[in-house]
Amino acid sequence: MSEQAILSVRNIKVHFQVDGHGPQWPWTPKKVLKAVDGVSFDLYPGETLGIVGESGCGKSTLSRGILNLIPATEGEIVWMGKDLRKGSESDWHKVRSDIQMIFQDPLASLNPRMTIAQIIAEPLKTHRPGMSAAEVKDRVRKMMRRVGLTEQQINRYPHEFSGGQCQRIGIARALILEPKLVICDEPVSALDVSIQAQIINLLKELQREMNLALIFIAHDLAVVKHISDRILVMYLGREMELAQKKALYDKPSHPYTRALLSAIPIPDPELERNKVIQILTGDLPSPIDPPSGCVFRTRCPLAEPRCAQESIALHRVDDDTQSSCLLV
Ligand code: SF4
Repeated sequence: MSEQAILSVRNIKVHFQVDGHGPQWPWTPKKVLKAVDGVSFDLYPGETLGIVGESGCGKSTLSRGILNLIPATEGEIVWMGKDLRKGSESDWHKVRSDIQMIFQDPLASLNPRMTIAQIIAEPLKTHRPGMSAAEVKDRVRKMMRRVGLTEQQINRYPHEFSGGQCQRIGIARALILEPKLVICDEPVSALDVSIQAQIINLLKELQREMNLALIFIAHDLAVVKHISDRILVMYLGREMELAQKKALYDKPSHPYTRALLSAIPIPDPELERNKVIQILTGDLPSPIDPPSGCVFRTRCPLAEPRCAQESIALHRVDDDTQSSCLLV
């Protein structure tokens, strides 16, 4: 891509010190939980990067690390050319009006004691304190209409809305400052399938109108397919594959991506019947004690002896795909 990236994440790590055998054994040595362990990617204006992986793979921690809601342990977070990890708290404050977040549980993410108008206006109060009350009200009304809410709902409370409507309120709150990037942390996983499609279509429309970049986090590849331009597959805090959408769905390079793809139901009954499902055996290993070599080796159907000794960072497979598998 010839355009300048708005966000460059370089070798970002989010590690936590944890008690070796739990808090009841304080004399045992501390261990390091590597929730995110060396993730790098660029994001371009107007682009959607899908981030996918099982629960516990570090995708939500990564998104919070980018916003410094959980401070990163190492690495660079370069926003519009400036490394935020070297910046001050006031740099982060400015960036937070450019980068907004939409959360997984729409109702839980809204303050039950605030009206919809107050919730949507809250970022304006924080980041545009000079704006008059009339301007704020006008912006809130316009944004409510834009996300499919009616002005009559402006003084209602979150509990009076359905899950899909609550997510529309969350989107209105995230977009009221006209940010450049919105991080969507599993925004549809708590919603019914029919509502999921509505919310994804709404995000796509708003993205086109506002030239928004999106990071869209989900735990399965079916959800991110319709919204992503590129997809990053994560496992145990590491990158397994980063690819253009078409390449990833047509010719996945990493065995983990292939396993995730085989779990997606195919709408054609004949194809679905004949499909070979690659079931991942065993549980996700602990990020406190990850396997040696390739972290996916304990569940990989193609693992060879050298996979226990060696590991490799994402490397270029072709123009569209990067993989961390030693065999490709
Ligand atoms: S490096 Fe080895 S264990 Fe890891 S994904 Fe490739 S084949 Fe499987």
